[in-house]
Amino acid sequence: MLDGTPWSSCPRVFARSAVEAFTAETGLEVAASFEHEFMLDDLPTSAPFSWQRFRDAEPFGSELVELLQLNGFGPETWLPEYGEDQFEITIEPTTAVLAADRAVLLKELVRDLARRHGHRATFAPLLDPDGSGNGVHIHLSLRDATTGEPVLHDPSQPSGLSELGRKFAAGVLTHARAISALTAPSASSFLRLLPHRWSTGGIFLAERNREALLRICPTAPDGDTAARQYNLEFRAGDATANPWLAIGALIRAGLHGITEDYPAPTIWPEDASEEDLEGVEPLPRDLPEALEALEKDDVVTRWLDRDMLATFLAIKRAELDQTRDLDLAALCRRIADVH
Ligand code: GLU
Ligand code: MG
Repeated sequence: MLDGTPWSSCPRVFARSAVEAFTAETGLEVAASFEHEFMLDDLPTSAPFSWQRFRDAEPFGSELVELLQLNGFGPETWLPEYGEDQFEITIEPTTAVLAADRAVLLKELVRDLARRHGHRATFAPLLDPDGSGNGVHIHLSLRDATTGEPVLHDPSQPSGLSELGRKFAAGVLTHARAISALTAPSASSFLRLLPHRWSTGGIFLAERNREALLRICPTAPDGDTAARQYNLEFRAGDATANPWLAIGALIRAGLHGITEDYPAPTIWPEDASEEDLEGVEPLPRDLPEALEALEKDDVVTRWLDRDMLATFLAIKRAELDQTRDLDLAALCRRIADVH
């Protein structure tokens, strides 16, 4: 507000208060990193993951890495992804609110640089209903707020996930249907969140599996490095989400899992088959179902300012009204026009 007091409907205030509550209750802090995929138009066709695509995007790629370095974002990898014209940029983890701040700025930097090179960059979840999706995967780890010691990893526990980490994961899984309305909040978002798309095929936790909602990422084999690298990757996010709402909701959900002592979820192995995963709860089929799940989840709605929640739901339903008559191809294009 103009007098300097935080505005209760501000998404960044929501993220900040989630972080503060997390540290106050657990003595821990959350480190996070948002991993973005996007597409550049007007490039020659090239093979997935190919050196040729790296080359075709030059000097954009090198300049992007330099720009992120200059701005202190700590770029880690820049790579051609699987989908047509698709790239991925990852930046180093940092404290949760700063990570979300960087997610906001990163998109503007990418778009601006692409424009200067005569390209248009889009982060939309899908450009066409049958194509590859652009995800925003949110990597989360926990560390002691005083000593900085990582606490998500415990090599004596199944899949190396500490007991505390399992409760955190349980909170996210239990409230995932509601949270998905905040992390994947567009009419085309849920077309991406289906099996066989390497995005999220259902609400489950797994080692390395790219269809898990929460994925335990690979680390160096042992020791301190593994503990520092160990993280949970939330894969049901996209760039149409507000990063502060997304991270705030994930932190609140993890905290709730810890304070309410949620039972440990199953950790599926990487090679779990479709039959194994048959009983796994699905994400909402579409945005209307996700909005309904959000409204009905008394735990999640309690975290959100009433006006903010009402405004969010009203805006999303107005967007749905405006896109109701579009076929899926036109719907994906409309969302891509904006994002
Ligand atoms: N493009 C996939 C998505 O929509 C992710 C691929 C990957 O695992 O990096 O989330
Ligand atoms: Mg990727």
